[in-house]
Amino acid sequence: MSKSLQAIRGMNDILPEQTPLWRYFEGTVARLLDNYGYKQIRMPIVEFTELFKRSIGEVTDIVEKEMYTFEDRNGDSLTLRPEGTAACVRAVLEHGITGGGQVQKLWYIGPMFRHERPQKGRYRQFHQIGLEVFNLDGPDIDAELIIMTWRLWGELGIRDAVKLELNSLGTSESRGRYREALVEYLSAHHDKLDEDSQRRLKTNPLRVLDTKNADTQAVLVDAPKMADYLDDESRAHFEGLKARLDAVGIPYVLNPKLVRGLDYYSKTVFEWVTDKLGAQGTVCAGGRYDGLVEQMGGKPTTGVGFAMGIERLVLMLETLEQIPEEISRQVDVYLCAFGEAAELAGLALAERVRDQLPNLRLQVNAGAGSFKSQFKKADKSGALYALILGDDEMAQQVVGFKPLRGQGEQQSIAWDALAAHLATCVVQG
Ligand code: ATP
Ligand code: MG
Repeated sequence: MSKSLQAIRGMNDILPEQTPLWRYFEGTVARLLDNYGYKQIRMPIVEFTELFKRSIGEVTDIVEKEMYTFEDRNGDSLTLRPEGTAACVRAVLEHGITGGGQVQKLWYIGPMFRHERPQKGRYRQFHQIGLEVFNLDGPDIDAELIIMTWRLWGELGIRDAVKLELNSLGTSESRGRYREALVEYLSAHHDKLDEDSQRRLKTNPLRVLDTKNADTQAVLVDAPKMADYLDDESRAHFEGLKARLDAVGIPYVLNPKLVRGLDYYSKTVFEWVTDKLGAQGTVCAGGRYDGLVEQMGGKPTTGVGFAMGIERLVLMLETLEQIPEEISRQVDVYLCAFGEAAELAGLALAERVRDQLPNLRLQVNAGAGSFKSQFKKADKSGALYALILGDDEMAQQVVGFKPLRGQGEQQSIAWDALAAHLATCVVQG
């Protein structure tokens, strides 16, 4: 194929053999979110560039170097969304649905775009399921978000492979005091910091805590700790969260270096991390952002949320072989018909069966073919049973019913009795 007809690097097709696992994952999360009382919101994929600059922060990796920004035909600067929170906040403000303290528990799903170096678990178009809660300011809701994800890991069979890391960033006032102390300390050790950290010290000093550089990490060992600068309110909030996680029995580790990449967090921040995916270890991350809505021009409105990376979680299901058996089979029953009259009768019969068993995965052979070739297709489809309609069956108004997996002889079933018979032998999803 010519080079111009390839997908963009880091932007992947999700092929038919992969979509069943994606749909299983997405369906499991969606059901859980419904059950906990969250409502779905859908935002556009493209927004004004200004939205992300104002919400995410000018001196973050995302805004500095990862955004897909372009001018449209009107000369407006637009950006493919790199994350969901900014657009979600814009949407609730625009439609006034968080006004007067109205609580909103919202979730969204969809593609995000960041110009990063593509590698396993890191792509330029990737997919997130995210969630935002507005106007609930207590630790109880922070706990609910984490409890819900804990349940999700349990349902998916990956609970043993993830670890919860927690930190509190305090209010913006206490974080400001901490930032000053940190800058003072790091400035005194300026020459021992790596280049990136020297730059961050000036632009976004908390991000230095996040460094992967060993020399800088050594300097950080004796650096001031956020925990010592927490104001009483943040401290009580954090204790409240931990007490709730303890009550439910969710283990966590405190990670004072967890600062998250975005500027807007306050108080609680958390990440679910795994060692099963190499360097791309964070599968779900979030926190509280009580100041963001006001910063974006709204009335003071508290917020807390998270986003999980679908690619990474699907990779985990594959790596840990937690793929439910039922999703690998796409067809329950395959109908073979021989000759034109049988084909017409087969179509009508299939529709009658579908009327009665709307969840049955019934595939009708297309493309005619010999007995042998249709049978081969039936087998290859993965179906549990083949239905056979030939001249003999037509004459008797029956259909041949043949198990394709394991034992069992072929039987004849009257057309009128077919749906009832199938209901007894096919477990319907
Ligand atoms: P990382 O530290 O891995 O770059 P991040 O802090 O930039 O992650 P968030 O902005 O918090 O990530 O996004 C939430 C989740 O979305 C991440 O935990 C991860 O699972 C997923 N994610 C983020 N960036 C990518 C990407 N480029 N490709 C695939 N998944 C991603
Ligand atoms: Mg990142």
